[in-house]
Amino acid sequence: MKSIRMIEAGKPLELQEIPVPNIGEKDILVRVLAAGICHSDAHYRAGRSAMGMLPITLGHEVAGVVERVGTHVKNVKIGKRVCLHYNITCGDCYYCSTGNEQFCNTVKMLGHHVDGGYAEYIAVPARNAIPLPDEIPFEAGATLMCASATALHALRKGRVKAGETVAVFGVGGLGLSAIQLAKASGAVEVFAVDIKQDKLELASEYHAIPIDASRVDAVEEIRKLTQGKGVDVALEMIGMRKTMEQAIDSVGNLGRAVMVGLNQQPIQINTYMQVLGKEAEIIGSNDHLLQELPLLVDLARRKILDTSHVVSQVIPLNADKINQRLDDLENFTSDVRVVIVP
Ligand SMILES: [Zn+2]
Ligand SMILES: [Zn+2]
Repeated sequence: MKSIRMIEAGKPLELQEIPVPNIGEKDILVRVLAAGICHSDAHYRAGRSAMGMLPITLGHEVAGVVERVGTHVKNVKIGKRVCLHYNITCGDCYYCSTGNEQFCNTVKMLGHHVDGGYAEYIAVPARNAIPLPDEIPFEAGATLMCASATALHALRKGRVKAGETVAVFGVGGLGLSAIQLAKASGAVEVFAVDIKQDKLELASEYHAIPIDASRVDAVEEIRKLTQGKGVDVALEMIGMRKTMEQAIDSVGNLGRAVMVGLNQQPIQINTYMQVLGKEAEIIGSNDHLLQELPLLVDLARRKILDTSHVVSQVIPLNADKINQRLDDLENFTSDVRVVIVP
């Protein structure tokens, strides 16, 4: 089969003909019909993250049709539409058995530690398959498995309740999903903070209140718009020191600031003013859980989560085109979401 693979860190991906993967008795073989190109893939290609093996087929946002099933597989049948949870876990360790499988001792991510979806076929454990309803196109199903899933997990970590207010820092793919999912969770007001006009306009289309941080102080503006109270939940989706501090600063009494964006730099907090005095919480949110994905897919099927604007371009399984797209992500030259359709 055709697959687009990372042979060496820092080099363009290459087309390789490799055998269609074999499956074990609890695995399925999926014919890939959509594979999202994610910003993480640019990091992987550049060598900024240790890969589980080389060469490796990238691609962790995958949807397709079940082509073959192992002898012990009961949850999916041949011919069914599925999208794939990208973390392969053991199911038995302490974290797996307590429902926190993102910390599995042997977690392996598709397209990072094992072969992913930039290929005609992919083999995964059957329990990683989430049924994909006919109403959701494969392209949208693939992208649901990454940014939207992470946004849903972050909202659950923030325990957003009906009647609460939410601020979302950063209106990218994560942020746009978070805005809609916050509304679906009952948030009465969602503030969207960004510095790009087009993103703020998009946020407004999803009924968020835009805050242009290039013109105003985001925290002051949030305080003004909440009559001095601050928001109940703030989600930081960018991973910048400034916005992390702002997110913490923008929550009110009993508020929860959820950190989603990646950043290794230390940030400064005044524990009395910002945490203890307000009984506020700073919460880390890492990835998402298999158990959250059926709910996410159902929200998309019911159009509570709109996926119609997510995918802006479709390309074939072609190494040059994929490398070009990864170059764009590397240079931040465009914001379009591209999905490979083999
Ligand atoms: Zn991704
Ligand atoms: Zn485990």
